[in-house]
Amino acid sequence: MKLESIGILVALRPFDEKNAIAHILTRDCGLMTGMLRGAITTKTNKPLVGQIGSMTWNARLDSALGVFHWESEKNLAVPIMMNSLALSYMNAAFDLICTMLPEREPYINLYNGTVKLLNDLSDTTDAYSEYLKWEIELLGELGYAMDLSHCSGCGKTSDLHYISPKTARAVCDNCAAPYLAQLYKMPVTLDITLKFLEKICTTQGARVPNARIFLNNKKI
Ligand SMILES: [Zn+2]
Repeated sequence: MKLESIGILVALRPFDEKNAIAHILTRDCGLMTGMLRGAITTKTNKPLVGQIGSMTWNARLDSALGVFHWESEKNLAVPIMMNSLALSYMNAAFDLICTMLPEREPYINLYNGTVKLLNDLSDTTDAYSEYLKWEIELLGELGYAMDLSHCSGCGKTSDLHYISPKTARAVCDNCAAPYLAQLYKMPVTLDITLKFLEKICTTQGARVPNARIFLNNKKI
C-alpha cells in the first residue's frame, strides 16, 4: 500500500541508532506514523520537527508500520524557535495532534489551520489568540464545535456570557441563571478549552499532553 501527500512533520523519536519513528500530519491522509530510515545519522536533508514537505508512505500490509520517504521543502519552525512563547504553542499543538487525532483520517481544515498557525506564530504579537483559534478548530473536529453566536436555550443573540460544558454552545444570562455552577463563564480562554480537551482525552483513554498542560500552568 502506498500513500502520498504533503504534510508537516509533527513528531520524531529515535527508534534505534539510525532510524526514527515519525508522525506526519498530512493534508490528504490525516495523521500518519512510520519509520524514517537514517533520520538520526543522515548528514544531509536531516528531517526536523516543523518541516513541511512531501511524503510517500509505503507498507507491505495495510496494518503494518509503514516507511516514509520525506522531501522537506521548508522548515516552518525556524522563526518559531527564536521565540520561546511561540515554541511552547507549537509544541502543544503538535503533541495534541499526535495524542488526539485518529490515524489516517483526513482533517483538511485542521491541516490548513495548522499551516496557518505556524505561519502566524512566526510573526505575531498575539500568539495566545492565534493558538486559541487553532485549538477551537481542533475541538470542532473532535466533536465540540463551539457555537457562540446565539443562546442554545432560547436562541437570543445578546447577553451571552456562559458556555455549556456539554455542548460547547453559548448560553444567555437568563437561561444560565439556574445552572451557574455547572457552566463555564465566557470569554473562551485556554482554561476553558483545556476542560474540553480533558473530556475528549478521557473518552479516548488518553491524557492531555504535558506540553499543553504547561501552557495553563505557566499562564502564558
Ligand atoms: Zn437563552
